[in-house]
Amino acid sequence: MNEKTKKSEKEWKQQLSPEQYRVTRKKGTERPFTGKYHNCKEDGVYVCVCCGTPLFHSDHKFDSGTGWPSFHSPVHEDNVAVEEDSTLWMVRTEVLCNKCDAHLGHVFPDGPQPTGQRFCINSAALDLDQNQDDVKNKDKSTTEEQ
Ligand SMILES: [Zn+2]
Repeated sequence: MNEKTKKSEKEWKQQLSPEQYRVTRKKGTERPFTGKYHNCKEDGVYVCVCCGTPLFHSDHKFDSGTGWPSFHSPVHEDNVAVEEDSTLWMVRTEVLCNKCDAHLGHVFPDGPQPTGQRFCINSAALDLDQNQDDVKNKDKSTTEEQ
C-alpha cells in the first residue's frame, strides 16, 4: 500500500465521468439522494472508482437517511485515509482513498455500533464490485471447492 497511484488531471478527466471527476479529484459532494448507491442493498465490495481499491463492504452499509451511502467501517483501515477538513466553516474529517488520494466523503462520530462511526461517502466515488465478495466469503469458498 506504499505505492500511490498518480495520474495527471488530464488522465483522470479521461478516465472519469465529469461528476466522478468533480467529486473525487476536486473534493466535490454530490447532491443527496442523487447518487446511484445511497439506496443500494446489493451485496458486494465498493471499490474506489479511480483505482479499484476495495473500500467498503455492503455488510457494513446502513441506512442513514442522509441520501448518501453510509458505512460504519471500511473494508480495511489501511485502504482509507482521513484528514481534517476545515472548509465550510466547520471542522469535519475528510475520507480519502489511501491509494490514489481520491476524495470519498466524510466520517462523523454519530454512526451505529460496532464502531460508532458514520462514513458518509459519495456514490460517484464508488463502484460496486459484486464479484469481489472474498472479504466475507473467504472461509466458505475453501470448503465449497471439493
Ligand atoms: Zn483510489
